[in-house]
Amino acid sequence: MKYRHLGKAGIQVSELSLGSWVTFHTQSGIESVTAMMAAAYDAGVNFFDNAEGYAGGKSEEIMGAALKNLGWRRGSYLVSTKLFWGLNEGPNEQNTLNRKYLLESIDGSLRRLGLDYVDLLFCHRADPTTPIEETVWAMHNIIERGKALYWGTSEWEAEDILSAIDIAERHHLHKPVVEQPVYNLFQRHRFGPEYERVYRDRRYGSTTWSPLASGLLTGKYNKGIPADSRGAVEGLGWLQKELTDAEKLAKVSALEPIANSMGASLAQLSLAWCLQNPYVSTVLTGASRVEQVRENMKALDFVDSFTPELMNEIDRLFVAA
Ligand code: NDP
Repeated sequence: MKYRHLGKAGIQVSELSLGSWVTFHTQSGIESVTAMMAAAYDAGVNFFDNAEGYAGGKSEEIMGAALKNLGWRRGSYLVSTKLFWGLNEGPNEQNTLNRKYLLESIDGSLRRLGLDYVDLLFCHRADPTTPIEETVWAMHNIIERGKALYWGTSEWEAEDILSAIDIAERHHLHKPVVEQPVYNLFQRHRFGPEYERVYRDRRYGSTTWSPLASGLLTGKYNKGIPADSRGAVEGLGWLQKELTDAEKLAKVSALEPIANSMGASLAQLSLAWCLQNPYVSTVLTGASRVEQVRENMKALDFVDSFTPELMNEIDRLFVAA
C-alpha cells in the first residue's frame, strides 16, 4: 500500500480506503464487517469512512463494534463521519449545517462509533440556508473541543469551498482541508476546471466515492440485477435506473477487453484508474463481502500500468466527443 498526503495536511491516507454506505448493517452484519475491515487493514488501509445518516446511525454502531472487536491501536487508523441529513425530524435537525445541529450531532456519532474523536469530519452536503461562516465556526469549535482532528466538505461547489477557506483564514480558524466528491469513469465533474483553484491552488485533499459507480463498473449488471447486489436493495429505486442504463452497460462491456489485456478485473482497472488523478488522496472503496475487499485491494498492482495511450483509449469510450 502507498500513502498520500491529504492535500496539504500533514496526515497521510492509504491510496485505497474502505467505506460503509449501503453495506454496513443493511447488507453486512458484524461478522462480515469485522472481516472486511480486517482484510482492508491487513492490506494497509488506514482510513475507514462513515456517516451519521448511513443506515440511520446503525452503520456507525456496527463500525464501532467492529473496531472494538479488532482492538487496533488508535494511532494506526483514521475514521471519518459526515453530518448533514440528520437522524431526527424537525426544522433544525434535517438537511442542515447549522451550529446547533453540528455541535449536538457529533456527540451522537462519537457515541455510536465508541470513539473519543473522529479523524475527519465532513459536511455531507452544502447547506445554502445556513451562512458558510456559521458552519465554519461550528466545525472549528468541534475541532477545538477535541471531537474531530480535521474537517472537510462533500459535494460542495468549488466557490463554496473557497469561501469556507477564506472565512477560516480571515478569522484564524481551522480550515477545511478535504473534499469528498463522487469520482469514477462515468462521473468526473467534481474535478472539472472550476476545481483547479481548489486542488491545484489551495492543495485541498480528496477522498473520492463510488469508484465502481455502485458496482456498475464491475460488469455484474450486464445481464440484469443480481439478487444479492446493491441493485436489489430495497429503497434504492433511483440507483436501479442507473445500474440498468443500456448506454452505460455498453461502455462497461467495451471496457472488458481492455481489462483482460491488462490482466485486471473490471473492478481493479476502474479503481486503479481513479488513482491516476494526482488530486485524489484516497479512493474510498465499498464492499458487501470480504472477497470483494481482497479483489479490490489488488487494484494497486495496476496503478502503474496506465500509459497515455491507454488513458486515451479509455477516454474514447467514456468521454463524449
Ligand atoms: P463503489 O462504487 O465501489 O460500489 C461498491 C459496491 O460495488 C459494493 O458494495 C459491492 O456491491 C460492489 N462491488 C465492490 N467491489 C466489487 C467486486 N470486486 N466485484 C463485484 N462487486 C463489487 O463504492 P460505494 O458506492 O460503496 O462508495 C464507496 C464509499 O464512498 C462508501 O462506502 C461511502 O463511505 C462513500 N460514499 C460517500 C458519499 C458521499 O456523499 N460523500 C456517497 C456515496 C458513497 P454489491 O456486492 O452489493 O453488488
